[in-house]
Amino acid sequence: MDRPDDDDLVDVDLYDDGKFPEFGRNQAPGAVAVRAAVRGKGPVPAEGLATRRQLRAMGLSPGGQDPVARLTWRGGQRWAWLYRVDLAVPKRTPTLAQEMALDRAMAAQATCPLCRRRYHHCLPLRTLGSCLECHDGTPADPASYIAPPEHDLAA
Ligand SMILES: [Zn+2]
Repeated sequence: MDRPDDDDLVDVDLYDDGKFPEFGRNQAPGAVAVRAAVRGKGPVPAEGLATRRQLRAMGLSPGGQDPVARLTWRGGQRWAWLYRVDLAVPKRTPTLAQEMALDRAMAAQATCPLCRRRYHHCLPLRTLGSCLECHDGTPADPASYIAPPEHDLAA
C-alpha cells in the first residue's frame, strides 16, 4: 500500500532546486523491503531505492546509473547516495584467477626488486626502480613493508 509505482520514482524533478531529494531511514521508496532483503529476511525487491552498500549486500551494483536521491541520517550529518533497485545490475564477482592476477599486479607494484621487501604502498618503480631506502638510503619505516622471505638465506 505504501508501495510507490514507477511514476513516483521517475517523475520526481531531481533538478528542481539543484538538490537531490532526501530521505531519512525507512522513508525512501521500498526502504523497508530493501532493509529486509539486506538482512536476508526477504526477497530482493523489484523496485525502490537502495544505497550502494545495500545493493552490494543484495548481490547488486548500481551499474551505470546515476544516484537519484540521498539517504540521510544523524540529522543529516551522514548521508549516502540512493540508487534505483530496478536499474541495478548483478554484482560482478571476480573469479579466483582474476583476483590472483590482481594481487600479483599489486605485489609487483609494491615489491622492491633490490631488497625484495613488499611494501604496503606502491613504489616509484618507474622513476627510481626501487624503494627509497635502496635508492638514496632514506630509511623505510619497518611498519610500511613486509620483510622478504628468508628461507633462501637459511637454506
Ligand atoms: Zn629496496
